[in-house]
Amino acid sequence: MAYPCLDIHLDIVKNNVKTVHSLCREHGIQITGVTKVFSADPHLVQAYIDGGLERIGDARIENLKRVEHLSLEKWLIRVPALTQVKEVIRYADVSMNSEIETLFALNEEAKRQHKKHKVILMVDCGDLREGYVKEEELLHVANLMKDLSSLILYGVGTNLSCLSFVLPSEEKMQSLFHLSQSLPLKNPTVSGGNSATIALMMEGGIPKGINNLRLGESLLFGKERKGYTYLKGTRKDAFILQAEIVELKEKPSLPWGEIGVDSYGIKPESPCDNGIGLRAILAIGKQDCDIETMTPLDPDITILGASSDYLIVRLSGNKEAYHVGSIIPFALGYFSLMRAQMSSFVEKHYIS
Ligand SMILES: *Cc1c(COP(=O)(O)O)cnc(C)c1O
Repeated sequence: MAYPCLDIHLDIVKNNVKTVHSLCREHGIQITGVTKVFSADPHLVQAYIDGGLERIGDARIENLKRVEHLSLEKWLIRVPALTQVKEVIRYADVSMNSEIETLFALNEEAKRQHKKHKVILMVDCGDLREGYVKEEELLHVANLMKDLSSLILYGVGTNLSCLSFVLPSEEKMQSLFHLSQSLPLKNPTVSGGNSATIALMMEGGIPKGINNLRLGESLLFGKERKGYTYLKGTRKDAFILQAEIVELKEKPSLPWGEIGVDSYGIKPESPCDNGIGLRAILAIGKQDCDIETMTPLDPDITILGASSDYLIVRLSGNKEAYHVGSIIPFALGYFSLMRAQMSSFVEKHYIS
């Protein structure tokens, strides 16, 4: 077996998807399963399908291309780039948009490929990321779209809690719904956000008519992103990263010598003095994971830090339990999973 490796528990993901899916269904909401965290790995996309999903969304068109063979409605959830219009029409059925120039280009390309392409217009509800701030401007674009015969207006969407971490609220959902009622179409898709909107949904704060959420984190880890709580009936340990100890020594907890700045130009805070302790160095680093979003399964292990290629931990339990060559498992969260999945140094194991 080669290390580091990432164990991917497809059964856990499938069950999380089923649980969140039925929770959303109770509130009249369909899910677009977001796949960007795992680069639309087809095994995991299949787990989404097995969990009952019919739509996926990814921010990268290259990821949607990987699942070209799967019959699903595919959404590009990042505003398309003009230079990628051809691929967008080819690999995505739906895209989220906020620029009229891009819509013109998508229309021309869709015509060329003899396709109809669906468009969701994005509303900026305050997070200051993508979307129209002014309603009139969005409605004007929606009306102009009547002349773009290869595009189909599909609905509106918003994204919150991603840049400014503005929380979704009943008022914001209400105004998104009202806006959708002014669109020149009958049954609009109204996409009310990401895993940060689940808490509001569970409080009953999402008005009828909001009928879609784009979910990634909640499906993979069972986590809603308002209070960062875990949803009942889900599990957070679908992704386990295992790394190998290459050095194990008793060392002082305080460094010695004059302290300079780190790679970001910041002077590091000095660690607490815990005296001499057992430290292990693992053959994995920032290229493969993110120490802020990973948790050792053994509670006697504490992550101390990482550089590009090393991860350093303190071992405080039974000193005989670990030796050079031992394998240490960690449960991964969002950004760690993203890096581990992207890293060619991490071997992937699928467990179903
Ligand atoms: C990443 C992303 C999502 C999914 O976010 P989660 O918090 O993982 O549910 C939804 N919508 C857009 C536009 C995104 O970029």
